[in-house]
Amino acid sequence: MLHLYGGIEAGGTKFVCAVGTGPDDLRAEVRFPTTTPQETIRRALEFFRDQQDRLGGGIRAIGIASFGPVDPNPASPTFGHITSTPKPGWQNVDLAGEIRRGLNLPVGFDTDVNGAALAEGLWGAAQGLDTFIYLTIGTGIGGGGMVGGRRLHGLLHPEMGHIRIPHDRQADPFAGICPYHGDCLEGLASGPAIAARWGAPPEDLPPDHPAWALEAHYLALALANFICTLSPQRIILGGGVMQQPHLFSRIRAEVPRLLNGYIPARPILDEEEMQAYIVPPALGARAGVLGAIALARIALARHAADAPDPPIL
Ligand code: ADP
Ligand code: ZN
Repeated sequence: MLHLYGGIEAGGTKFVCAVGTGPDDLRAEVRFPTTTPQETIRRALEFFRDQQDRLGGGIRAIGIASFGPVDPNPASPTFGHITSTPKPGWQNVDLAGEIRRGLNLPVGFDTDVNGAALAEGLWGAAQGLDTFIYLTIGTGIGGGGMVGGRRLHGLLHPEMGHIRIPHDRQADPFAGICPYHGDCLEGLASGPAIAARWGAPPEDLPPDHPAWALEAHYLALALANFICTLSPQRIILGGGVMQQPHLFSRIRAEVPRLLNGYIPARPILDEEEMQAYIVPPALGARAGVLGAIALARIALARHAADAPDPPIL
C-alpha cells in the first residue's frame, strides 16, 4: 500500500497543491489563483480526488500550510479556520474542515511560515536543529519556527512581522503602512513599505540605494529581539525582498553590532560562523508546499497514535 501525502500551500494570491512524500518525491502539482473560498476549495478537492483515483487511494493524509491569521489549536472549536484575515470573503472559513470532510482523510494544519519552517527543519537549511526560526520578508512579514523540537504555538501563533521596533522618525520620517500598527516591523520593512517609502518597488532599487542600509537595520533589530527571546540556533530569511543577496551581508554585520557582545555564542561573535547562522532557505520556493506535505505526515502519525504531535525532528 502506497503511503503518500497531499499538501496544500494556501496563499493569499495562489494555492499550490501537491502529492508526494518529500523533496525528492513530488509526483503531481497544480497551482491556481485564490478566488472565492468555495471555488478555491472545490479546485483543491477536485485535484486530490483525481490523484486519489489515479494512485489507487495512496494518499493517506493532507497537510495545509495557510495564510492567516488562522486557528492552529487542535483543541479549539475553530481549529483549521482562517480567522480575521483582511482578505475579502475568507474570514472564518473552515479550510481544514472542508478538506477533511471532502476527502475523508486526516488533516494537518498550520500557518504558512510554520509549515515552511518545518520543511526547512526536515529537509532544508535547519536540518538537525531543534530551535530555529523562518522569516519571510515579502508582501508581508511573517515568522514561524520550532522551539525545542515543537512548532511555535500558544495563545494562537506567532505574528513576528508585527513586533514593534525602535523607529527614529528623524532618520526615517516614513509613517509605516501596517493598517493595525503603522510602524510595526511589517509596516516599515515589508516590500510594499519599501516601495511606499522610496516611490519605487524594492526590486528596482540599486544595491547602493540608502533603502538597503535602513532595511538591514530594521530586519537586524527584529532578529536581535528574536535572538534574545527564542535563542534560535539558526535564522532562515526568505521572501521576495531577500532576493537581494547584499541584504544578507548587511544583516549579518548589523546583528552583532546591535547585540554588542552580550550573547556569548560563536555564530554571533564569529564572522565566519555568522555566515551559517543567518541563511536563505534551502528549499526555495518549494518550502511552502513541502511544509504542507510535512504537516500531512504529522497528521497521519498523530491519527495513528491518537496522540499530540510526535516529535519529528
Ligand atoms: P508574497 O509575500 O506575496 O508571498 P514574495 O515573497 O515574492 O510574495 O514577496 C513579494 C514582495 O517582494 C514584493 O513587495 C516585491 O516588491 C518584493 N520583491 C520581489 N522581488 C524582489 C527582488 N528581486 N528584490 C527585492 N524585492 C523583491
Ligand atoms: Zn502591524
